[in-house]
Amino acid sequence: MERPNSERIHKEALEHIVGGVNSPSRSYKAVGGGAPVVMERGLGAYFWDVDGNQYIDYLAAYGPIITGHAHPHITNAIKKAAETGVLYGTPTSHEVKFAKMLKEAIPSLDKVRFVNSGTEAVMTTIRVARAYTGRDKIIKFAGCYHGHSDLVLVAAGSGPSTLGIPDSAGVPKSIAQEVITVPFNDIEPFREALSKWGDEIAAVLVEPIVGNFGIVEPKPGFLEQVNDLTHQAGALVIYDEVITAFRFMYGGAQDLLGVKPDLTAFGKIIGGGLPIGAYGGSAAIMETVAPLGPAYQAGTMAGNPASILSGIACLEVLKQDGVYEYLDQLGALLEKGISESAKKHDIPITINRLKGALTVYFSTEKIVNYEQAENTDGEMFARFFKLMLNQGINLAPSKYEAWFITIAHTEEDIEATLHAVDNAFYSLAN
Ligand code: PLP
Repeated sequence: MERPNSERIHKEALEHIVGGVNSPSRSYKAVGGGAPVVMERGLGAYFWDVDGNQYIDYLAAYGPIITGHAHPHITNAIKKAAETGVLYGTPTSHEVKFAKMLKEAIPSLDKVRFVNSGTEAVMTTIRVARAYTGRDKIIKFAGCYHGHSDLVLVAAGSGPSTLGIPDSAGVPKSIAQEVITVPFNDIEPFREALSKWGDEIAAVLVEPIVGNFGIVEPKPGFLEQVNDLTHQAGALVIYDEVITAFRFMYGGAQDLLGVKPDLTAFGKIIGGGLPIGAYGGSAAIMETVAPLGPAYQAGTMAGNPASILSGIACLEVLKQDGVYEYLDQLGALLEKGISESAKKHDIPITINRLKGALTVYFSTEKIVNYEQAENTDGEMFARFFKLMLNQGINLAPSKYEAWFITIAHTEEDIEATLHAVDNAFYSLAN
């Protein structure tokens, strides 16, 4: 597959945009480099690049595009917003309607607030938890990404029960010292951290189903124990549902798993592809937020009619009967085909799948935590990624990301994808 225009545009982009990309995950650095494909048009499950090549898309813009590109119901909502003014700076009735939709879908929410990104949503839940508890420290889980605010760009120190170290230049050491990172799916280090710093902990931040070192489900009982121990320590539980909300069912992962946080952060799917974030929780905790309470959070773009109308339209599509069963059915087909092909060519893989989201790891070990995901074969993934791309299958350029199936994908798309997978595995084996 030739991509001279992508290469030319990327070269030009490098002169004007730092790294040539507006988010580092879009670069191909993690898969051996090269010019990322420059896309021109998306429709349904497909993309066309600036050289006229067609792709089946499993990136889904890192998750939000669960309905497929340019879904007509969402497109009409965005058109309506464009025609009636995209930004008011005043309240609108759309915000109220959307808040009610979120509350109906996710029972742990009494009150919500809309912001502009998942990063903002998570950042603010932490501020609210700190304001509510009067404490400063947080506990997070290794490998979980929660956006790019200072406090969550922190990795584990030298042991599971040490304070964090900055994961990015520019994050002050003093801030990293407020964060404790422990492994996911292992309750003992978590218990240890709480017994050491329990009365200083404002909140425990967790993706209830991990989406950022592949799709990793919690072990039975893990989240329940996290909730119990956190509450015993007088701290709040924050679920980062930026990836998971409306991904696996109409509602949150919390509703799928039957667990309840104190605060939840949202993003991605709830904007139908336009920029959005939201956070919410019980009235008592949310009333800590200005103008009712002392925790300040604001936004010029927050709750803008375009994002809200797009989000409402997206949830309307997802609320229809059979949506999640369909995603599951296609997911199962894809998983089965990839597994069979790997067996045929003797390629060591393991697949984590939940409904329409899956990760193919180049390892035979069952992946339940970040350390294991880190140890999977990145070089093999990089070769696989390029072999797939050159057959018109667009995956995320990282071994840690998920494949997202959308409701626009068809069985024929899955079959075409499996044909490409079989060719790729053949090449890897020979
Ligand atoms: N939380 C999770 C779980 C995410 O996956 C992401 C982004 O990938 C974020 C937060 C940050 O969201 P955004 O990129 O909208 O700022």
